Amino acid sequence: MAAVVLEARGLGRRYGAFAALEGLELQLHAGEVFGLLGPNGAGKSTTLNLFMGFLRPSSGSATILGHDCTREAHEVARVTGHLPEELTLFENLTGRETLSFVLAMRGDTSPARWSAVEASIERLGLGRDLDQLVAGYSMGTRKKLALVLALAHDPQVLLLDEPTNGLDPVVAREVRELLQTRAREGALVVLSTHLLEVAERLCHRLGVLVQGRLRALGTPEEVLRQTGRATLEEAFLALSGTPP
Ligand code: ATP
Repeated sequence: MAAVVLEARGLGRRYGAFAALEGLELQLHAGEVFGLLGPNGAGKSTTLNLFMGFLRPSSGSATILGHDCTREAHEVARVTGHLPEELTLFENLTGRETLSFVLAMRGDTSPARWSAVEASIERLGLGRDLDQLVAGYSMGTRKKLALVLALAHDPQVLLLDEPTNGLDPVVAREVRELLQTRAREGALVVLSTHLLEVAERLCHRLGVLVQGRLRALGTPEEVLRQTGRATLEEAFLALSGTPP
């Protein structure tokens, strides 16, 4: 069994009386692609933001490669690439300037680092827009840049909120393949998605969150068995309490 990279123990987050996430128990491994599924407002982004240390847990804790996600968020950021739900980019820089800035901040602007970054630029078809101002980027191009930024320091862990949402089918396939390659090389890839087809094709294991609670956990086949349904869509509907 591969090493445990990310662990959540009783992780929860409340807003007043409302529990956005409750009692999350999870162990994720090197080389794994893990998909977080769940209806709107189920707690997926909350979970990823807790892992990044952007939110303080109300209960429990999480660790990434042994670093506490709250107390050692800086160390977590060093080993993790993150794609947030809401992309915040420097509007008045070009894509290339943004990448230079982020690589410099991370302390590695070596030719080897740049050639690795150029490979993902090439793969996602960002090259054409790289010297344009971010302010003029389309939604898909912004996402491509944000993905290249998340991958740029070759992190051991990727936490990606809806990585293929808003991308055309060709780029979406490139992203799926890129993430599979990263996982094969030993990275842990955690993504949230509403696209059940992406979940089924890309993820080794899935977690289905409903109203802040993990209702199913396992391989796509195990989730079908746990719910007694024939398709992931039926399983998802059953778990989220939607009548067939
Ligand atoms: P979506 O699929 O729509 O992106 P999600 O599963 O990512 O949803 P979250 O964004 O994690 O869901 O939100 C979980 C719940 O927590 C939602 O009901 C949301 O309204 C609530 N929530 C999030 N942030 C706050 C906040 N700052 N104050 C109060 N409630 C919040």
